[in-house]
Amino acid sequence: MTLSLDTIEVKQISGVSAQKQAELHALGIFTVKDLLEYYPFRYEDYRPKSLSEVKHGDKVTVEAKVIGIPVLQRFGGKSRLSCKMMAEPWMFTATWFNRHYVREQLTAGRQVVISGKWDQKRSQITVTDYEFPDRGEGKTGTLQPVYSVSGKITQSWLRKTISQALLQFGDLIPEILPQPIMRKYEFMPRKRAITTIHQPEDSREGQQGRRRMVYEELFLFQLKVQAFRTLNRGRMDGMVHTVDNATVRQFVRSLPFELTNAQKTAELEILQDMRSSYCMNRLLQGDVGSGKTALAAIALFATVRSGFQGALMVPTEILAEQHSRSLQAMFEPFGITVALLTGSVNGRKRKDLLASLQMGLIDIVVGTHALIQEDVFFRELGLVVTDEQHRFGVNQRSVLRRKGYNPDVLTMTATPIPRTLAITVFGDMDVSTLSERPKGRIPISTYWVKPDKMDRVLNLIRREVVQGRQAYLICPLIEESDKLDVQNAIDLHIQLSQAFPDYRVGLLHGRMTPGEKDEVMRAFYDNEVQVLVSTTVVEVGVDVPNATLMIIMDADRFGLSQLHQLRGRVGRGEHASFCVLVADPKSEVGRERMAAMTETDDGFEVSRRDLELRGPGDFFGTKQSGLPEFRLADMTADFAVLEQARGDAAELLRDGTFWTSAEYAPLRSFLQKEHIFQGDLID
Ligand code: ADP
Ligand code: MG
Repeated sequence: MTLSLDTIEVKQISGVSAQKQAELHALGIFTVKDLLEYYPFRYEDYRPKSLSEVKHGDKVTVEAKVIGIPVLQRFGGKSRLSCKMMAEPWMFTATWFNRHYVREQLTAGRQVVISGKWDQKRSQITVTDYEFPDRGEGKTGTLQPVYSVSGKITQSWLRKTISQALLQFGDLIPEILPQPIMRKYEFMPRKRAITTIHQPEDSREGQQGRRRMVYEELFLFQLKVQAFRTLNRGRMDGMVHTVDNATVRQFVRSLPFELTNAQKTAELEILQDMRSSYCMNRLLQGDVGSGKTALAAIALFATVRSGFQGALMVPTEILAEQHSRSLQAMFEPFGITVALLTGSVNGRKRKDLLASLQMGLIDIVVGTHALIQEDVFFRELGLVVTDEQHRFGVNQRSVLRRKGYNPDVLTMTATPIPRTLAITVFGDMDVSTLSERPKGRIPISTYWVKPDKMDRVLNLIRREVVQGRQAYLICPLIEESDKLDVQNAIDLHIQLSQAFPDYRVGLLHGRMTPGEKDEVMRAFYDNEVQVLVSTTVVEVGVDVPNATLMIIMDADRFGLSQLHQLRGRVGRGEHASFCVLVADPKSEVGRERMAAMTETDDGFEVSRRDLELRGPGDFFGTKQSGLPEFRLADMTADFAVLEQARGDAAELLRDGTFWTSAEYAPLRSFLQKEHIFQGDLID
């Protein structure tokens, strides 16, 4: 295969000038492959309909006959042309604005195909498009693709250019799916599928094309993650951790509590992975407060005692601070050094830190995402633990590997998901689950109140702070407006400060500098601040055991998993804790969320309900989960297809001939392009 579509630049398509090429680049289209995969997001229907089928105000295409004499009115520089038409059995008026020249063409009895908006009350169509079949014109009867365009690129130019590309290069569209799969699902060939998505003959054909390409996208995704995993195991080039059990037990005994059975099982699974020579990629999921941090600490201890360095990556600076403080306390007695690296560490301090890290003077580094990038080098990185929202995608792991590290990876999440779903979506990971919480926890009582009961909420705050406890008050989430979120927080902070003059009320929001945030959080940890008014920046991970009250304003605006996360900030100590949802939900979903929250505080049950309410696509929110964004596939609507694709990919990889048979060469070259393995793997 010498000529491949992803090496042919768009300027090779006739009609694409240098300027047009630049505009295509702005849409992310560089090669012919990119262009052909630039799929329409909907279709415009130019298939003629009967006027009895359409509603007032809808766009419609009708076949009609001229039955009246066209009337042209001019006003200012504008014109309006109307003519009586017949589309059996409807008589209506067709109106053209500013197209006076159409008048000559409207001869009595002539057939016209008209598209436009149907005004049923006046029996009128305002024409946007028209064609004369006797001139052999041809949009009629078709579905026209609608693309997302911008700049100087118009719909019609893009349609034309894609047709041209199909004409010139269509024969180079390679088949990639193997025959057994093509037969199993009765898929159309790849070229036809791509063609029909851009130029559907009818909607059935278009749907068949889409069905095939959706499957292909999901299948390739599954093949990628599963091949990565298989090869990782096969290659046995992970870090071999040599720490012995007695050493680990020493550390575990130093913890101020006994591990739960669930923690013990997960510990075993993690250490087993770390000791073996394949590269660990394990997801540790457990409800908020189930004690994931302790496991992270054990794993980090094990990597250091095996002679490597460890990194703990968290989504926010607040969390990084918190974790570095608690790890420091745990590791101090063992002479293990812990450093904190965030965006606010810079200058001389940062330089020294990076140098120490590279020389191996630092054992463990805690920080945000920047931790594993660019100028950060380790002497020998053995383990990366990522907390909460972070997750390494397959490609990020290849980047790490090319940097010379092949660390074991442990990902922790407090959004527990059913095991089958985890395996399907995170195809490249093993899963450990903490299904129980530490004994002796007092369950959190959750209440739902209407906003007009704010005085009672204030009394509740008073009751807790008088007893020496602390409270969070989370501000409403205003979609798409960080600015309004902040304003809300500021207003509520003023109100609460007035309501509680004898206590300190703190304010925390996303627009504060990292230094300011740290200062407020530190004051809250130390109980110098009793009430913390905050936007959702405290959502994940924050651990202040003396806080016993969580109040969430306009709670129905938050997703269920997020509400549960927020609730998880309390109930972490020996005192009884409360969560109050202040909301007057307008939607059914909002009411169901409130009901779910008051009925259960089990994270697995909450996420099951969340999944029901939202579907898997929304549930994961592709951006933050590190999942690829698919061009055509939709994680919610196409979830069943994803499951099928997962099974098919697994079966194919189990088949010994996958790595050798000529039939799978296109799939292997796809994997190679995705950097799943280096060229030397194929013989
Ligand atoms: P999460 O899973 O939400 O990250 P943490 O690791 O922050 O939970 O643990 C929550 C709290 O429970 C912490 O204060 C931690 O010290 C405590 N904890 C963890 N494991 C146990 C245990 N086995 N028994 C008692 N307390 C525990
Ligand atoms: Mg945590």
